[in-house]
Amino acid sequence: MRTIGLIGGMSWESSAEYYRLINQRVRDQLGPLRSAQVLMYSVDFGPVEQAQHAGRWDDAALILEDAARRLQAGGADCVVLCTNTMHLVAPRIEAAVSIPFLHIADATAAAALEAGTLTVGLLGTAFTMEQDFLKSRLAAQGLTVLVPDAEERKAVHRIIYEELCAGAISDASRQVYQRVIQTLAARGAQAIILGCTEICLLIQPEHSALPLLDTTALHAQAAVGFALQGTGIATTL
Ligand code: GLU
Repeated sequence: MRTIGLIGGMSWESSAEYYRLINQRVRDQLGPLRSAQVLMYSVDFGPVEQAQHAGRWDDAALILEDAARRLQAGGADCVVLCTNTMHLVAPRIEAAVSIPFLHIADATAAAALEAGTLTVGLLGTAFTMEQDFLKSRLAAQGLTVLVPDAEERKAVHRIIYEELCAGAISDASRQVYQRVIQTLAARGAQAIILGCTEICLLIQPEHSALPLLDTTALHAQAAVGFALQGTGIATTL
Protein backbone atom coordinates (compact mmCIF):
# COMPACT_ATOMS: atom_id res chain seq x y z
CA MET A 1 0.00 0.00 0.00
CA ARG A 2 1.22 3.49 -0.82
CA THR A 3 1.44 6.19 1.85
CA ILE A 4 -1.01 9.10 1.57
CA GLY A 5 0.37 12.55 2.42
CA LEU A 6 -2.25 14.98 3.69
CA ILE A 7 -1.77 18.73 4.05
CA GLY A 8 -4.31 19.46 6.76
CA GLY A 9 -5.35 22.11 9.24
CA MET A 10 -7.47 24.19 6.85
CA SER A 11 -9.44 23.70 8.93
CA TRP A 12 -8.66 20.77 11.20
CA GLU A 13 -12.41 20.15 11.41
CA SER A 14 -12.31 18.84 7.85
CA SER A 15 -8.86 17.24 8.13
CA ALA A 16 -10.28 14.97 10.83
CA GLU A 17 -13.00 14.02 8.37
CA TYR A 18 -10.43 13.16 5.67
CA TYR A 19 -8.56 10.95 8.15
CA ARG A 20 -11.77 9.17 9.19
CA LEU A 21 -13.06 8.68 5.63
CA ILE A 22 -9.72 7.42 4.31
CA ASN A 23 -9.36 4.86 7.08
CA GLN A 24 -13.02 3.79 6.84
CA ARG A 25 -12.61 3.15 3.12
CA VAL A 26 -9.44 1.10 3.59
CA ARG A 27 -11.23 -0.91 6.28
CA ASP A 28 -14.20 -1.49 3.93
CA GLN A 29 -11.91 -2.61 1.13
CA LEU A 30 -9.23 -4.59 2.97
CA GLY A 31 -10.85 -5.81 6.19
CA PRO A 32 -11.82 -4.70 9.71
CA LEU A 33 -8.34 -4.30 11.14
CA ARG A 34 -6.73 -2.73 8.10
CA SER A 35 -6.04 1.00 7.99
CA ALA A 36 -4.41 3.50 5.68
CA GLN A 37 -0.75 4.47 5.74
CA VAL A 38 -1.08 8.21 6.25
CA LEU A 39 1.20 11.13 6.99
CA MET A 40 -0.50 14.42 7.82
CA TYR A 41 1.22 17.76 8.07
CA SER A 42 -1.35 20.00 9.73
CA VAL A 43 -0.65 23.72 9.49
CA ASP A 44 -1.79 26.53 11.77
CA PHE A 45 -4.80 27.88 9.86
CA GLY A 46 -4.47 31.37 11.39
CA PRO A 47 -1.62 32.69 9.21
CA VAL A 48 -3.06 30.97 6.13
CA GLU A 49 -6.49 32.51 6.64
CA GLN A 50 -4.96 35.96 7.23
CA ALA A 51 -2.93 35.64 4.04
CA GLN A 52 -6.04 34.60 2.07
CA HIS A 53 -8.13 37.57 3.19
CA ALA A 54 -5.23 39.98 2.59
CA GLY A 55 -4.67 38.57 -0.91
CA ARG A 56 -1.15 37.46 0.11
CA TRP A 57 -1.38 34.17 -1.79
CA ASP A 58 2.38 33.98 -2.15
CA ASP A 59 2.78 33.82 1.65
CA ALA A 60 0.17 31.07 1.87
CA ALA A 61 1.85 29.18 -0.96
CA LEU A 62 5.19 29.24 0.87
CA ILE A 63 3.61 27.58 3.92
CA LEU A 64 2.03 24.86 1.80
CA GLU A 65 5.11 24.25 -0.36
CA ASP A 66 7.02 23.67 2.86
CA ALA A 67 4.32 21.27 4.10
CA ALA A 68 4.42 19.30 0.84
CA ARG A 69 8.22 18.99 0.99
CA ARG A 70 8.02 17.73 4.56
CA LEU A 71 5.49 15.09 3.52
CA GLN A 72 7.70 13.92 0.67
CA ALA A 73 10.76 13.84 2.94
CA GLY A 74 8.74 11.80 5.44
CA GLY A 75 7.96 9.14 2.87
CA ALA A 76 4.57 10.14 1.45
CA ASP A 77 3.84 8.81 -2.03
CA CYS A 78 1.36 11.58 -2.93
CA VAL A 79 0.13 14.96 -1.74
CA VAL A 80 -3.54 15.56 -0.90
CA LEU A 81 -4.35 19.18 -0.07
CA CYS A 82 -7.36 19.04 2.26
CA THR A 83 -9.01 22.31 1.18
CA ASN A 84 -10.58 23.53 -2.03
CA THR A 85 -9.60 27.16 -1.52
CA MET A 86 -5.89 26.57 -1.28
CA HIS A 87 -5.96 24.77 -4.62
CA LEU A 88 -5.61 28.36 -5.83
CA VAL A 89 -1.88 27.75 -5.31
CA ALA A 90 -1.93 24.09 -6.40
CA PRO A 91 0.59 24.65 -9.23
CA ARG A 92 3.11 25.97 -6.66
CA ILE A 93 2.67 22.94 -4.40
CA GLU A 94 2.81 20.53 -7.33
CA ALA A 95 6.07 22.11 -8.47
CA ALA A 96 7.62 21.87 -4.99
CA VAL A 97 7.62 18.05 -4.93
CA SER A 98 8.21 15.16 -7.30
CA ILE A 99 5.41 12.93 -5.96
CA PRO A 100 1.91 13.13 -7.53
CA PHE A 101 -0.50 15.85 -6.40
CA LEU A 102 -4.10 14.58 -6.37
CA HIS A 103 -6.21 17.59 -7.41
CA ILE A 104 -9.58 17.93 -5.67
CA ALA A 105 -11.32 19.14 -8.85
CA ASP A 106 -10.32 16.04 -10.80
CA ALA A 107 -11.87 13.69 -8.23
CA THR A 108 -15.00 15.85 -8.23
CA ALA A 109 -15.37 16.13 -11.99
CA ALA A 110 -14.90 12.39 -12.42
CA ALA A 111 -17.73 11.68 -9.97
CA ALA A 112 -20.03 14.23 -11.63
CA LEU A 113 -19.45 12.78 -15.08
CA GLU A 114 -19.88 9.25 -13.81
CA ALA A 115 -23.28 10.28 -12.40
CA GLY A 116 -24.19 11.81 -15.76
CA THR A 117 -24.27 15.30 -14.27
CA LEU A 118 -23.25 18.14 -16.57
CA THR A 119 -24.56 21.24 -14.80
CA VAL A 120 -23.45 21.70 -11.22
CA GLY A 121 -23.97 24.33 -8.53
CA LEU A 122 -20.78 25.22 -6.65
CA LEU A 123 -20.74 26.18 -2.96
CA GLY A 124 -17.49 27.18 -1.30
CA THR A 125 -15.57 30.15 -0.05
CA ALA A 126 -15.82 33.40 -2.01
CA PHE A 127 -12.33 32.64 -3.35
CA THR A 128 -13.53 29.32 -4.76
CA MET A 129 -16.87 30.60 -6.08
CA GLU A 130 -15.53 33.84 -7.56
CA GLN A 131 -12.04 33.05 -8.82
CA ASP A 132 -11.28 30.68 -11.64
CA PHE A 133 -8.83 28.10 -10.33
CA LEU A 134 -11.44 25.42 -9.53
CA LYS A 135 -14.23 26.41 -11.91
CA SER A 136 -11.99 26.39 -14.96
CA ARG A 137 -10.63 22.96 -14.11
CA LEU A 138 -14.19 21.63 -13.74
CA ALA A 139 -15.24 23.34 -16.99
CA ALA A 140 -12.24 21.85 -18.80
CA GLN A 141 -13.63 18.43 -17.93
CA GLY A 142 -17.01 19.23 -19.47
CA LEU A 143 -19.01 20.67 -16.56
CA THR A 144 -21.11 23.83 -16.57
CA VAL A 145 -20.64 25.49 -13.19
CA LEU A 146 -23.26 27.77 -11.59
CA VAL A 147 -22.48 29.85 -8.52
CA PRO A 148 -24.90 31.61 -6.13
CA ASP A 149 -25.56 35.34 -6.53
CA ALA A 150 -23.45 37.93 -4.68
CA GLU A 151 -25.54 38.13 -1.53
CA GLU A 152 -25.81 34.35 -1.25
CA ARG A 153 -22.06 33.96 -1.82
CA LYS A 154 -21.42 36.36 1.03
CA ALA A 155 -23.60 34.31 3.39
CA VAL A 156 -22.06 30.99 2.30
CA HIS A 157 -18.54 32.40 2.78
CA ARG A 158 -19.30 33.94 6.19
CA ILE A 159 -20.75 30.70 7.53
CA ILE A 160 -17.65 28.76 6.43
CA TYR A 161 -15.16 31.01 8.24
CA GLU A 162 -17.18 32.16 11.24
CA GLU A 163 -18.89 28.85 11.97
CA LEU A 164 -17.83 25.66 10.16
CA CYS A 165 -14.05 26.17 10.45
CA ALA A 166 -14.59 27.11 14.09
CA GLY A 167 -16.53 23.93 14.83
CA ALA A 168 -20.01 25.49 15.01
CA ILE A 169 -22.94 23.77 13.27
CA SER A 170 -26.35 25.46 13.39
CA ASP A 171 -29.83 24.80 12.02
CA ALA A 172 -30.16 28.45 10.98
CA SER A 173 -27.07 28.21 8.76
CA ARG A 174 -28.22 24.87 7.38
CA GLN A 175 -31.43 26.58 6.30
CA VAL A 176 -29.43 29.34 4.57
CA TYR A 177 -27.53 26.71 2.57
CA GLN A 178 -30.75 24.83 1.80
CA ARG A 179 -32.29 27.98 0.32
CA VAL A 180 -29.18 28.60 -1.79
CA ILE A 181 -29.31 25.01 -3.05
CA GLN A 182 -32.99 25.44 -4.00
CA THR A 183 -32.18 28.57 -5.98
CA LEU A 184 -29.37 26.78 -7.83
CA ALA A 185 -31.78 23.91 -8.58
CA ALA A 186 -34.29 26.38 -10.03
CA ARG A 187 -31.50 27.79 -12.23
CA GLY A 188 -30.80 24.35 -13.68
CA ALA A 189 -28.18 22.74 -11.44
CA GLN A 190 -28.46 18.95 -11.45
CA ALA A 191 -26.18 18.46 -8.44
CA ILE A 192 -24.37 20.56 -5.86
CA ILE A 193 -20.62 20.49 -5.37
CA LEU A 194 -19.82 20.94 -1.70
CA GLY A 195 -16.70 22.82 -2.77
CA CYS A 196 -15.42 23.54 0.68
CA THR A 197 -14.24 20.66 2.81
CA GLU A 198 -16.26 21.68 5.89
CA ILE A 199 -19.69 21.93 4.23
CA CYS A 200 -20.26 18.19 4.64
CA LEU A 201 -20.33 18.83 8.39
CA LEU A 202 -23.46 20.99 7.87
CA ILE A 203 -25.18 19.58 4.79
CA GLN A 204 -25.76 15.87 4.28
CA PRO A 205 -27.77 14.30 1.44
CA GLU A 206 -31.01 14.37 3.44
CA HIS A 207 -30.74 18.16 3.74
CA SER A 208 -30.43 18.81 0.03
CA ALA A 209 -32.99 19.09 -2.76
CA LEU A 210 -30.25 17.98 -5.19
CA PRO A 211 -27.67 15.18 -5.17
CA LEU A 212 -24.40 16.22 -3.53
CA LEU A 213 -20.85 15.97 -4.82
CA ASP A 214 -18.95 16.19 -1.55
CA THR A 215 -15.35 17.18 -2.31
CA THR A 216 -14.10 15.88 1.05
CA ALA A 217 -15.45 12.37 0.46
CA LEU A 218 -14.50 12.30 -3.23
CA HIS A 219 -10.97 13.52 -2.57
CA ALA A 220 -10.56 10.98 0.25
CA GLN A 221 -11.77 8.24 -2.12
CA ALA A 222 -9.28 9.32 -4.75
CA ALA A 223 -6.51 9.18 -2.15
CA VAL A 224 -7.44 5.62 -1.23
CA GLY A 225 -7.67 4.69 -4.91
CA PHE A 226 -4.12 5.94 -5.33
CA ALA A 227 -2.90 4.19 -2.18
CA LEU A 228 -4.33 0.84 -3.23
CA GLN A 229 -3.32 0.99 -6.89
CA GLY A 230 -1.37 -2.08 -7.81
CA THR A 231 -2.57 -4.06 -4.79
CA GLY A 232 -5.21 -5.86 -6.83
CA ILE A 233 -8.04 -4.33 -4.77
CA ALA A 234 -10.93 -2.78 -6.75
CA THR A 235 -10.92 0.95 -6.11
CA THR A 236 -14.01 2.18 -7.92
CA LEU A 237 -15.82 5.27 -6.63
N1 GLU B 1 -11.67 24.06 3.89
C1 GLU B 1 -12.18 25.10 3.09
C2 GLU B 1 -12.15 24.81 1.62
O1 GLU B 1 -12.25 23.67 1.26
C3 GLU B 1 -12.03 26.49 3.52
C4 GLU B 1 -10.87 26.80 4.41
C5 GLU B 1 -9.73 27.33 3.61
O2 GLU B 1 -9.81 28.49 3.27
O3 GLU B 1 -8.80 26.62 3.29
O4 GLU B 1 -12.11 25.67 0.80
